[in-house]
Amino acid sequence: MSPYPSHRCDVLVIGAGPAGSACAQALAEGGLDVVLADQHDFPRDKVCGDGLIPDAHAALKRLRVHDEVMAHAQRVQRVGCIGPRGGRVDVPGTLAVLPRRVLDHILVRSASRAGAALLTPWRFESPLVDGGRVVGARLRSGASVREIGARWVVLATGAVPQALIAAGMCRRRTPSAVALRGYVKHDGMAGRLDALEVVWHPRLARGYGWVFPAPGGVYNVGVGLVHSHAADADGRATMADVNLRSMFAAFTEVHAPARELMAGGTLQGGLKGAPLRCSLDGAAWSRPGLLVTGEAAGSTYAFTGEGIGKAMETGLLAAQALVRERRDGLDDAAACARAAPRRCCAAWPACSTRRPIRATSCRCAASRSCCCRCAERRDPAPGALSGAARGAGSCRRCSSAGRRGTRCTSAACRR
Ligand SMILES: Cc1cc2nc3c(=O)[nH]c(=O)nc-3n(C[C@H](O)[C@H](O)[C@H](O)COP(=O)(O)OP(=O)(O)OC[C@H]3O[C@@H](n4cnc5c(N)ncnc54)[C@H](O)[C@@H]3O)c2cc1C
Repeated sequence: MSPYPSHRCDVLVIGAGPAGSACAQALAEGGLDVVLADQHDFPRDKVCGDGLIPDAHAALKRLRVHDEVMAHAQRVQRVGCIGPRGGRVDVPGTLAVLPRRVLDHILVRSASRAGAALLTPWRFESPLVDGGRVVGARLRSGASVREIGARWVVLATGAVPQALIAAGMCRRRTPSAVALRGYVKHDGMAGRLDALEVVWHPRLARGYGWVFPAPGGVYNVGVGLVHSHAADADGRATMADVNLRSMFAAFTEVHAPARELMAGGTLQGGLKGAPLRCSLDGAAWSRPGLLVTGEAAGSTYAFTGEGIGKAMETGLLAAQALVRERRDGLDDAAACARAAPRRCCAAWPACSTRRPIRATSCRCAASRSCCCRCAERRDPAPGALSGAARGAGSCRRCSSAGRRGTRCTSAACRR
């Protein structure tokens, strides 16, 4: 056993990515005794496109680190969406790119400043269970093992399934998507390629490619494949017959800026792939004494693989539930119900409204730009990503061009 003393805290948060750090900060600010554990020391790399879309900006403001993040990030003012036949729509927005090595370190430091005790490099091995309730966790660092008692454990361990499996929360071991990225330095392109470019092309079957301008003349170039694993009749899932490296090679042939970057730039650190868990699918969200949050709970958006903002939002939601549990003396079931994200409207998970409401009556800020039904009631947010991507005058839900004012005239949509 370990030479380390065992410890007791109110909440043990496992995983110090955006979800875990946001959760730990809000818990500490709520007056709870919090330990934030991760298997890696920080700063550490995380395979990602590094794009910060408006939901991430909003969450960073809630955590009061937006200024610090933007002091390091590459500011971007539009997303260029390039369709399979080469058509391009540029969508204005508040956007940025910052490598996760820097972003996640800022978030971890912010959680520490708020009072969370950081514990690295310690890997979650299994929950401690007493009478069916999770009462802490067993962590390992090399040959050392330690047990931490906690009133609640929050799993914010991202897309890899091992921690979910060990905690009995995994419903699907395979990811819902996979993606690969590399950093390419090319000083000559700086200033010329100044949008987040997302590309759907027939050569990238069922997937997409991106080129995101990071700080310092570096570009994050990558490809992603959604619905990467299909289940057979026995429930065994196998990955689609697609090679991400071949897909990356195809992308850098067919998309001229990616081709130019690879021809004249320097690839830094090789290509790296990682899984994604999307659409709130693949894991149970809670059991007595334990909550699952962030990408571990499938909070990432399947269409484009964006999940940093949604991870922080769900982490904050879990923290709110546990602060309320402590303050109001909620029982386990009520606390679990409060922490669960709900699909309140088509804008989920950008919408973090937790009231059980119908799509047509959602009043969250995100719903203003999410679908034509909501838009019938409220003006679309200026520069909103999802709607503007389909072009002015077209319906936000069915993409038909038959929109007059804010009301869609397509039969499919009115149905
Ligand atoms: C290639 C790629 C490109 C992407 N591009 C974008 C993008 O441009 N914009 C965007 O918004 N999103 C993007 N995403 C999605 C984004 O990376 C995730 O949605 C986000 O990282 C989820 O945050 P999280 O905190 O839930 O999990 P993570 O960021 O994965 O953090 C989980 C943490 O848990 C730790 N951990 C895991 N297991 C254990 C364990 N057993 N014990 C202790 N610690 C553990 C890990 O070390 C890690 O620090 C991309 C994803 C990929 C794969």
